[in-house]
Amino acid sequence: MVVKYNPQEIEKKWQQKWAEDRLYEVSEDDPRPKWYALTMFPYTSGDLHIGHWYAIAPSDVHARFKRMQGYNVLHPMGFDAFGLPAENAAISRGIHPFTWTMQNIVNMRRQLRSIGAIYDWSREVITCLPDYYKWTQWFFLKLYENGLAYRGKAPVNWCPRCQTVLANEQVVEGFCERCGAAVTRRDLEQWFFRITKYADELMQHSGIDWPERIRLMQRNWVGKSVGTEISFALEQPGVEEGEIRVFTTRPDTIFGVTFMVLAPEHPLVAKLTSPEKRAEVEDYIARSQRQTEIERLSTEKEKDGVFIGAYVVNKLNDEAVPIWIADYVLMSYGTGAVMGVPAHDSRDYWFAKKYDLPIRVVIAPPGWRGEELEEAYTEPGTMVNSAQFSGLLSQQGIEAVSDSLEENSWGKRTTTYRLRDWLISRQRYWGAPIPMIYCPNCGIVPVPEEDLPVLLPEDAEFRPTGESPLKYCEQFVNTTCPQCSAPAKRETDTMDTFMCSSWYFLRYASPDCNTAPFDADQLRYWLPVDLYTGGAEHAVMHLLYARFFVKALRDMGLVDFNEPFNRLFNQGIIIVERQKMSKSRGNVITPDEYVSELGADTVRAYLMFVAPWEQGGEWDDSGISGVSRWLNRLWNLVLGGYSCGDSIARIKAERELSRITHQTIRKVTNDLEKLRFNTMIAALMEFTNYLTRVKETGSVTPSAWEEAMKTLMLLLAPTAPHLAEELWQRTKHDYSIHNRSWPDWNEEIAKDEETTLVVQVNGKLRDRIMVPASITEAEARQIALERQRVKAYLKDKEIINIIYVPGRLVNLVVR
Ligand SMILES: [Zn+2]
Ligand SMILES: [Zn+2]
Repeated sequence: MVVKYNPQEIEKKWQQKWAEDRLYEVSEDDPRPKWYALTMFPYTSGDLHIGHWYAIAPSDVHARFKRMQGYNVLHPMGFDAFGLPAENAAISRGIHPFTWTMQNIVNMRRQLRSIGAIYDWSREVITCLPDYYKWTQWFFLKLYENGLAYRGKAPVNWCPRCQTVLANEQVVEGFCERCGAAVTRRDLEQWFFRITKYADELMQHSGIDWPERIRLMQRNWVGKSVGTEISFALEQPGVEEGEIRVFTTRPDTIFGVTFMVLAPEHPLVAKLTSPEKRAEVEDYIARSQRQTEIERLSTEKEKDGVFIGAYVVNKLNDEAVPIWIADYVLMSYGTGAVMGVPAHDSRDYWFAKKYDLPIRVVIAPPGWRGEELEEAYTEPGTMVNSAQFSGLLSQQGIEAVSDSLEENSWGKRTTTYRLRDWLISRQRYWGAPIPMIYCPNCGIVPVPEEDLPVLLPEDAEFRPTGESPLKYCEQFVNTTCPQCSAPAKRETDTMDTFMCSSWYFLRYASPDCNTAPFDADQLRYWLPVDLYTGGAEHAVMHLLYARFFVKALRDMGLVDFNEPFNRLFNQGIIIVERQKMSKSRGNVITPDEYVSELGADTVRAYLMFVAPWEQGGEWDDSGISGVSRWLNRLWNLVLGGYSCGDSIARIKAERELSRITHQTIRKVTNDLEKLRFNTMIAALMEFTNYLTRVKETGSVTPSAWEEAMKTLMLLLAPTAPHLAEELWQRTKHDYSIHNRSWPDWNEEIAKDEETTLVVQVNGKLRDRIMVPASITEAEARQIALERQRVKAYLKDKEIINIIYVPGRLVNLVVR
């Protein structure tokens, strides 16, 4: 009688043993090549749900596979512990964010341990602890020293419900990413990082293996456009600016400008508005301020505006152009002014139609005879009505007009980006304080490095007020100036938590280093990350910021690589009843109950089997039961004993056993390399079924059987590490299976047996073909029909029947 598979017992036992033996702790002093496998660390939101496991378990399987392949594998884990979710949850529960966060970490660490991953817990990183955020602050100082951090007043996205400023990336279609409230705008003094300095480099992804989708999203996010900035003359008395500049990618349409549109908040509007238009203009501005940026940009919204009673002059033809304001032009993008070319821009066309402004064709559509346009013609064409430029093609015209503007100093070629500088100030409590001091004598003074960390005071009120809670914490705010010792005030905003996650992968290399954010030698050994896995939702925030960070550190001479993550892989998501898991829907699957009922190994294997990893799939209780039955069968197969029958065809049976074993090794290895976990599990299941049949017939010798069992356990080890370890011990192998080498396959042995397929036409031999012995009837027919020698006999004939003798003969009956 075989001992029953009892995952609850063996999983706890082995996790304890591995921890005691420090089996998965790694050091840099190791002759094996290094492999740095990283999974995005979780927010400390409380409980891990099955979606977290879906990110975590397959990446652990891959890391274990690399380890067995002979790599020195660093696979660390930590906690992204600052930020709004923690703060809001703490507020709603009435406990301190620190207490709430640390309680969650205890629970999440327990859950993470139950997975049986190879995390080196001695390298754990928690971003809200002073020994970590000290270095987050240190990086802020470095960016400031290097001109990459600056303070500026800017209109910011403001979430009235969260009572905080949001980064552009946190605004989803005009709504707060966290709470769904409509986002409004406000002006505030803020700290920014000059990410735009790296705009061009961030669009390149050279030398790294990233999904095309993510690279495209980043390129679009940076949004480079090459064009020309054109100056229009202002001739109003008393307006010292003398010009309004606009950016356009189509200077070839300059002769078609019939109006100019300013953003309602453009600083010149007040100066230029004529007295008789003032009331109307002010009314319009007040209305537009009540709208969100997205409402203003919505394509559904009808474009409206107001003429302000003033004109600019188009320097190329000396024409006076009326100035309008309209809320579809935003001050925060470009120059806050656009030239209206209704004949060649759809939005301008409808605006001109609505207000009866002239529409002048300057780019001739194909076959144009001077008639009015039914809609804007936005394609390139031939320039007309454009003085000396008439007759040029658009592309030539763009260059010629730009040359002319530059020669006259009326404009210049320029490149603009959609990317904005990274706003990092947050008016919230639960983040790393920005290490800056404001002195009445010296102005902005950075906190000296030796005074770091600037500790987050524990006793501050953390409820949101719209201003930073630290503002009201006197013992925090009041300090002395490091330069002149005068009484001074600290910066009270905290940093965007994306700052914490922009460098955590560097900290894992030397988490205990207390003289620097990282030890340079250890960093050089481990970085860059070889494989980074996580959700695609981070395409334009975390993944762009982390790349910016590394490039900035490289330019400071702190790191010697260009990109943080060599290979990126985004897993899909697990859905439940065709819907995304969410607390509000009440369809969240918690792994704990499945782990305690079926075991972590079953949950791991099921998550890999459910769907291709990059696609994700639907959680299904009957599916996980099937996987559980498979592992139970496998347990019984290995431990159930083997008795050898009197096989008359032992040599053939053993040859088949080694062929299928080597084919399985090849398949499982290739699938693991490519992160194709579902087909890898399918191959292991097939192998189990095949071995079950071998066992029933007893057709191979006990030693051949044992060899196959050994391979099965090794191939299973990354997927079901506890089960494999237990079987390994029970079959009298030396501890630990996880220190064993990954099995190799022999291409010769794995080769399918071949057989000669005879092809006949009307019973006459026409060809002989070497084919795999396992060939199917459909494959055999297809191969036979495609042979040139056979085709010659089929010409002008109709096939009326095909006779097939498995693995031996195809007879084509024709007439
Ligand atoms: Zn919000
Ligand atoms: Zn001072």
